[in-house]
Amino acid sequence: MNRRINKFGNNPQDHLISILPSVIAGMISLSITIFATIILYPPENDIQRYGLIAYGIAGTIYLAFYYRNYTLSPNKTTYAWINAVIAGVSLGTLPYLVSRELDYLVYSLIYTAALATSVISNRGPAYFLLILFSVIHSIHFLYTGMPLNSWVIHTGLLIASFITVETIQQLKMISQKQMNRLEIVNEISKQIISTLDTKQLLALLDAELQNVLVADTYYIGLQKDDELELELFYDDGEYFNGTNFKLEGSLTNWVIQNQKVLFLPDMRFPVQLEGVTLKLVGKSRASLSWMGVPMKGLHVNGVIVIASYHTNAFNRSDLELLSNIAQRAAFALDNTYRHALVEEQARLDSLTRVYNHGYFIQKLQEQAQTCQMENQPLSLIMLDVDFFKQYNDTFGHTAGDEVLVSLCDTIRQHIKKTDALGRWGGEEFAISLPNTSGQQAVQIAGRIRETLATIKINGNQNEAIPVPTISLGIAVFPNETREITTLIDLADRRLYMAKARGRDQIEPAP
Ligand code: GH3
Ligand code: MG
Ligand code: MG
Repeated sequence: MNRRINKFGNNPQDHLISILPSVIAGMISLSITIFATIILYPPENDIQRYGLIAYGIAGTIYLAFYYRNYTLSPNKTTYAWINAVIAGVSLGTLPYLVSRELDYLVYSLIYTAALATSVISNRGPAYFLLILFSVIHSIHFLYTGMPLNSWVIHTGLLIASFITVETIQQLKMISQKQMNRLEIVNEISKQIISTLDTKQLLALLDAELQNVLVADTYYIGLQKDDELELELFYDDGEYFNGTNFKLEGSLTNWVIQNQKVLFLPDMRFPVQLEGVTLKLVGKSRASLSWMGVPMKGLHVNGVIVIASYHTNAFNRSDLELLSNIAQRAAFALDNTYRHALVEEQARLDSLTRVYNHGYFIQKLQEQAQTCQMENQPLSLIMLDVDFFKQYNDTFGHTAGDEVLVSLCDTIRQHIKKTDALGRWGGEEFAISLPNTSGQQAVQIAGRIRETLATIKINGNQNEAIPVPTISLGIAVFPNETREITTLIDLADRRLYMAKARGRDQIEPAP
């Protein structure tokens, strides 16, 4: 079923249901007015009698038509205005036809008409209907010289009608606001669920928060040891993403420690929470309303906070919404972390936890590209364990594995975080060193070779066994070649030159 939402926040089915009581009340009041006039206060002439009967039939048909067709009409605003004119004029003229004793019934008709108009449209047509009726009715009053109490009743009716129209408009506005919020939350939720990139997810959450909650400050923070890392931090029109602050003593810390929501509507009063002392983050201006909710998942532990420089800026419904967003954010962040973890695993060699062959080549290509743009050299070291087959045969495969793990640990000690280490295959490894000249690469290779010789490996009976030596070949980008495949080839050829020369040595780039 297509439950299309119109600009008044209701779909056609809801309209049918919401105006049904008014339409039925209208039909009943109209019928009673007509019949009562004919039976209790018979009109003096036939024109009036038949006029009334015609009025009753036309009115009833109109109401039925109105009920059915309004929902189908594509232009509801025009429809509401036309209806306001028809109802205002016809109900305004009805007192000319009926006995004065039945004015109350006419009033109840105009009241239900105003109520129904307010339900299906906005206040304009409803007010217009009331004013039109009032003017026509007042002219009748002036002509017939109405007593004061009739004027009082007339005025009372108008006041009651205006209040009803206004109340309905206010209620509609509240539900409309709530519905808009839910729509935005739903829309963004769909995107959030399918997002596997943490940065993109945070951007979506930022959009969601700023769209549904009006605040001066928004932040999404994740606990890292004793600090809160603000993945998203928006304060008074500026972003401070990536800021950190010490958790100890903060409101945020209270939320994380207690795993409870914290709502401070007016911070002019001192905050009395154990272990909490207020401090400023972001702009050096103190917030006067503050709302924080925990955001806890399997892999994330953090908070979402909104704050304002005004007191009483938020309400309970905002708090509920924020908690809702935080729960989904935790779930989604967990997802992106898990995804990143799986991706990371897929890039690594299972034994040595260094990059696998495929990912290393990708990384090497990226680094070479960056170095070319920055006009910097990149050195590639190819490294192979000497006589490793023999080593395995002598000390066992387990000891051999341990050598490979220790070798990688040793290499890591001598390279930077920005360098890349990969398992080329078997007992052969490759190291990409961006912004490193051939001479610097020789020094690094030398340190790795020397350190490896000093490490201890335990055999099957926990006895110390010797470590094998390694041979290394170096090639430099772009000095020697701009082609990655040629660069690898050159380093590999030099590695075998080192092997041929007797192993346990480095063959540098010329
Ligand atoms: P060279 O000095 O010429 O490199 O001699 P090598 O014996 O090291 O070379 P070869 O290619 O003949 O043998 C490589 C050996 O490395 C064979 C294989 O058993 C061993 N090897 C490869 N991968 C692993 C591994 O994951 N664990 C262990 N323990 N040994 C491995
Ligand atoms: Mg070998
Ligand atoms: Mg080999």
